[in-house]
Amino acid sequence: MSNLTPTTEVEMCVSEPTVKPTLQVLPGRLTDLGGLPIRRLLPRSQRRTVGPWCFLDSYGPVNFSSGKPMDVPPHPHIGLQTVSWLLEGGLHHMDSLGLEGTADPGTLNLMTAGRGIAHAEETSTENGGHLRGVQLWVALPDAARETMPAFEQHRSLPVLELEGGGATLIMGRLGGVRSPARTFSPLVAAEVAGTAYGRLALPLNPEYEHALVLLQGACRLDGQPLSIDTLYYLGCGRRDLVLSCEREPARALVLGGAPFGETVLMWWNFVARTMEEIVAAREDWEAGRRFGAVGAYKGQPLHAPPLVDRPVPRP
Ligand code: MN
Repeated sequence: MSNLTPTTEVEMCVSEPTVKPTLQVLPGRLTDLGGLPIRRLLPRSQRRTVGPWCFLDSYGPVNFSSGKPMDVPPHPHIGLQTVSWLLEGGLHHMDSLGLEGTADPGTLNLMTAGRGIAHAEETSTENGGHLRGVQLWVALPDAARETMPAFEQHRSLPVLELEGGGATLIMGRLGGVRSPARTFSPLVAAEVAGTAYGRLALPLNPEYEHALVLLQGACRLDGQPLSIDTLYYLGCGRRDLVLSCEREPARALVLGGAPFGETVLMWWNFVARTMEEIVAAREDWEAGRRFGAVGAYKGQPLHAPPLVDRPVPRP
């Protein structure tokens, strides 16, 4: 998916992990895009990154009887991986490598942009008229960000079974269970499902910084009630996460990673290190170079938004 609410100015994202356990509460910033509610959870001015996770939008739930609530024409990416994860409905991916695949609930669509790729995403035609999902980006570490572009789909992800629920490993490792998805730095993403009236203790890697987002249902973290589509930043040093559900089951997203330690520049759909790289990628896209065409998409590609080329402060 494209960054649907781009700004003209480049955003500098400094890795600023809190070294001890903390609880920073960041309600999602809501945008309505033609009837599709989107909550921006990362980057935020108070918290740009969690490990290498540099972007998180939660969208829906939306019910529809016709049309496509999401139809994102071809657009480019560099320097990141995109993660499409659905709770309801489906999202169909098409890219400039000629690959296609639909992300349904439980299926991971993972695109590694590396040096450059273009893709389009649209609501799947085979769906039940519902759409609810999250879009995440992982910043590639400097040593890997020129890697060849790739797309992979995982239809059967491992589940860490726990008393009171379980966790599906989208990427990385948790409690000895590991996702097969390709990663470039130490990280984790898991969808946690808690059963009604269940208490679930999720083991965490204390060397990672973590964040939690409740996506559905109702539950408490360490006794505190959680709000849906709010980012709870947890800091580093936690060995577990205790969620208590009430009369309905809950679904939540846990994100984490080793403190990234690199400052990235983000603009539109690019994750870079210098303004020059962003300008060059924008020019290459507008000139039809580098990224290739998304042959399977019926329609015109997106134009890059205007870019304000002003000096970016050094960290
Ligand atoms: Mn995209």
